[in-house]
Amino acid sequence: MIKRLNFLIFLVCCLSCFSSRAQSQKYVMVVHGGAGTILKKNMSAEKEQLYVEALRQSLQAGYNIIKRGGSSVDAVEAAIHILEDNPLFNAGKGAVFTNAGTNELDASIMEGEELKAGAVAGVTTIKNPISAARAVMEKSEHVLMAGRGAERFAQDCGLETVDPAYFKTEDRWRALQRALSADSAKAAAGKMSSKLSPSVVDEKFGTVGCVALDRSGNLAAGTSTGGMTNKKYGRIGDAPIIGAGTYCDNNTAGVSCTGWGEYFIRNAVAKTVCDLIAYKAYDIKKASEEVLKKVADMGGSGGLIILDRNGNAAMPFNTEGMYRGTVTTDGKIEVFIYK
Ligand code: ASP
Repeated sequence: MIKRLNFLIFLVCCLSCFSSRAQSQKYVMVVHGGAGTILKKNMSAEKEQLYVEALRQSLQAGYNIIKRGGSSVDAVEAAIHILEDNPLFNAGKGAVFTNAGTNELDASIMEGEELKAGAVAGVTTIKNPISAARAVMEKSEHVLMAGRGAERFAQDCGLETVDPAYFKTEDRWRALQRALSADSAKAAAGKMSSKLSPSVVDEKFGTVGCVALDRSGNLAAGTSTGGMTNKKYGRIGDAPIIGAGTYCDNNTAGVSCTGWGEYFIRNAVAKTVCDLIAYKAYDIKKASEEVLKKVADMGGSGGLIILDRNGNAAMPFNTEGMYRGTVTTDGKIEVFIYK
């Protein structure tokens, strides 16, 4: 009997030790590579591996910076660079096409100590839009620059520019052709709505984002995207809108969103999540889920990543999948794709 009791006490101790270790898991960085109809049945093992590898590389690049005492802004920029340079993602090379057959890129970055922020919208020649967003934050008195002006500013700052053709990939081009055919079929059936909505919502995924926490306890968040396939007439999404696609405050959390941008702008998603934490004392998970539910109730879809200065992270989404990953203080990387 006593032996049994001892064994039970031992078991309870082990369990409580395990659960407190699980709870004390601290994250220093989270990344996403977009949310959407991402189903295992539609994914080859090779492609899945490529996504996993890219997310790992991105997390590792950011982690290396944090580990040697670098800033969260440096980590976010480095992690997003890797995803912008990878044609698998809808950011930088691999950006989706507009209705006019061009690639127009949006990006933003924000730091949580002084709430400084920078963003670029509708740019076509800046190789890494996240670096241009950072330049706006650090080297200008503005927060958001668009189009030609943003490109000129990036050039003046010495950032790498490319011919717009650099961003073109066959996969994204074919996605646009599918979207245009769907538009023509709808028009022929007399079903074309008078509203200009991105016609192929499921072809949009691949936006990238990152939130990092450095050793000084400062958070930074960034988001970069090509927007939505078949977007029209200078359409700007949520990614470069501070408060919608990106927000960061050391007192609450850093947030980067992905999804149907119009709904994220209308709900000021990133800032609203932070406000629920600040004013209603919600935890990061509850705050994120509440706002994403509102997005879904209105007909939108997507997800977000969130990290606070205590190293708590969450990555909720209301789509079939979201490319996403985390790295802990001790360098343990985990990557996920499906629900
Ligand atoms: N939020 C982006 C946009 O609307 C797209 C995405 O995240 O997939 O431009």
